[in-house]
Amino acid sequence: VRRMRDLEQAMTRDGLTGLIKHASIKEALQAEWAYVRRHPRPFSVAMLDIDHFKAVNDTYGHAVGDLVIAAVGTLLRQHFRSTDKLGRYGGEEFALVLPDCAAESAERLLNGLRAAFAAIQFMGAGQLFSCTLSAGVVDNIIFPDDSPETLIEQADQALYKAKRGGRNRVCRATGSYGPADHETTRGAS
Ligand code: GH3
Ligand code: MG
Ligand code: MG
Repeated sequence: VRRMRDLEQAMTRDGLTGLIKHASIKEALQAEWAYVRRHPRPFSVAMLDIDHFKAVNDTYGHAVGDLVIAAVGTLLRQHFRSTDKLGRYGGEEFALVLPDCAAESAERLLNGLRAAFAAIQFMGAGQLFSCTLSAGVVDNIIFPDDSPETLIEQADQALYKAKRGGRNRVCRATGSYGPADHETTRGAS
């Protein structure tokens, strides 16, 4: 049974962060979306990306960059529920599926995570440095007719709004026909 479990773990979990892999987070989103059609409840989808990560690798090396990615994994587990689906979507990108959580709450949690991450002091090339991350979030309430794929796209667009807006912030998608997307920053203090 343990070997089966280890095998399953290796297939679905990312080795560096322990988070679920790209394909599995997409499956988790499909599953939540299908569940909610029968049992309506809010859920949020978030996309996160480390800011200026290329510079971290270039300045401190790839191994230190890996430690920064792993730290995001640890923080995600600390800040979200065990029933939340936390995935490493790509290199330094993360995707979350948060059941029973509307975008306002998700945004609050993400801002807490964002501040905690910015406060970490990493060590590289004999000096201390810190990093920030940006996030985009959307929920199924504002986009009730959207497919899982388009929810991911909406979260991704909100993420890029956060990047364009100056990074180290969380943006919430507010709907195609609404006013300019809501944005919050607690600033880098
Ligand atoms: P932005 O603020 O716009 O996100 O800038 P960025 O530099 O973070 O953006 P970009 O996506 O261009 O850079 C991501 C970098 O992440 C490029 C790639 O070398 C690095 N990367 C991807 N996967 C890994 C990994 O597993 N480990 C490490 N150390 N670096 C990785
Ligand atoms: Mg990226
Ligand atoms: Mg990045």
